Amino acid sequence: MSAVKAYWQNYIDGTWVDGGAGRIDVTDPGTGEVLAQHALADAADVDRAVQAARRVHLSGALSDLRPVERGRMVQAMGRYLLEHIDDIATVLTLEQGKPLWEARIEVQGAARYFEYYGNQAETVEGRSIPLGASYFDFTAHEPYGVSAQIIPWNYPVEMTARSLSAGLATGNTCVIKTPELTPLSNAWFAQAAEAVGLPKGAVNILCGHGHIAGATLSAHPDVNQIVFTGSVPTGIAIATAAAANVVPCVLELGGKSAAIVHADADLDAFRNDVRWGIFFNAGQVCSAMSRAIVHSDVHDAVVDRIVDVASEMSVGPGIERTEFGANMGAMVSEAQRDRAAAMVEAAVQQGATLVTGGRKANRPGAFLEPTVLTDVTPDMTIAREEVFGPVLSVMRFDHDDEAIQIANGTDYGLVGGVFTRDIDRATQAARQLRCGQVFVNEWFAGGVETPFGGYGKSGYGREKGREALWNYVQTKNVAIRLR
Ligand code: NAD
Repeated sequence: MSAVKAYWQNYIDGTWVDGGAGRIDVTDPGTGEVLAQHALADAADVDRAVQAARRVHLSGALSDLRPVERGRMVQAMGRYLLEHIDDIATVLTLEQGKPLWEARIEVQGAARYFEYYGNQAETVEGRSIPLGASYFDFTAHEPYGVSAQIIPWNYPVEMTARSLSAGLATGNTCVIKTPELTPLSNAWFAQAAEAVGLPKGAVNILCGHGHIAGATLSAHPDVNQIVFTGSVPTGIAIATAAAANVVPCVLELGGKSAAIVHADADLDAFRNDVRWGIFFNAGQVCSAMSRAIVHSDVHDAVVDRIVDVASEMSVGPGIERTEFGANMGAMVSEAQRDRAAAMVEAAVQQGATLVTGGRKANRPGAFLEPTVLTDVTPDMTIAREEVFGPVLSVMRFDHDDEAIQIANGTDYGLVGGVFTRDIDRATQAARQLRCGQVFVNEWFAGGVETPFGGYGKSGYGREKGREALWNYVQTKNVAIRLR
């Protein structure tokens, strides 16, 4: 496949097909121009994909395999992605806006999921439960069947990889609803499924509008499990649809995550946490460090460093940013950029101080300057609601309890960070923070191996790590009466 075709189709039951709802334009946020068109699925397309997945599931073609064989195919999908990294990363950058070097990291991260869950496939073991001499009892973990996976636009390749790899490793067949803004790069998952010899219909990938294709998929009576990554309102709609069919779902939603910076923290090292924490993917990361809660004694010193990091960033088209460095691409769309800029403006009206950034770039495309706000207080909207952009809100604290209270003071609870040389203080904070992951002295510490998911409105269930496997299987107990 040449990297950027004019028109991209959906992949249903092993065939590339047009969409019943026509086509959607995909825009390059780095230029503001239309990049390509993608087929748009309607409810009938979704139904065909679910029926194909159900047929493969019921045939046992995937679930009856010895797990190591499934695992090898899953691993091979990861290798396929790496073999095509140049094309995938190019398309991902053009449709999403991130720098090319970030897109390459995303493809590598996606491949890593297939490596990890491919390896885990043969470790999903049951146990034998003693019931006395007259019985033999054992448990088995079986796939749910059809796994529906609804993907957000910020990391379309990595998010699909995260759910698809675990779903396939455990023997589920999958229907993936890609995001309207960034559907193109998901095509390589369909190609990978074909290349590694998965049965036709085991992996279906389609783009469609959320309220049509997404809603049809999440309410479909033949879907057996749902994984959703995206916003809170959509998560609520999907959980409601899942409840109506009594199927389980995993919700990976947003965040308003905070780094607590104590006076004894390594302030120079913290610069790197700011660089990755809030400017990676232009802040469009669910686990972004969108708040820094800084001890008053070091507040000004920390703000100086944060402003340095922000002002050093060069902002421009991702496709020109091939090497890691102090650079940032476009946001995903002008609408998202305008929403973030409006939130910054409203914060200033509510009393925050704009220290740097906040302006849209004077060029086509969805660019927003790296932005730092100080004098933010916990009651302000900017301190409570997800911006999903390159905007860091700095707040102050004087006592440890106050920092924890501010950090825990939103409806979210995805991740949190504590920066200190005092291990007792760090472990105490780790216990007190209400969130699914705590980073001590390094934002984003962890990996595919470490469970990830939210407290509160950040969702439920876990992706990543071995914990994620249990979302994709149900336990069956078999009790045998011996004569
Ligand atoms: P979104 O909720 O608008 O869309 C996500 C997906 O849901 C898209 O594919 C969309 O088409 C679909 N959708 C929309 N309405 C639907 C409906 N009624 N029924 C079924 N599907 C529907 O979210 P987004 O704007 O694409 O992504 C940004 C959000 O995702 C942010 O809040 C971010 O924090 C969150 N996110 C979370 C994680 C995580 O792992 N926790 C990762 C990435 C993004």
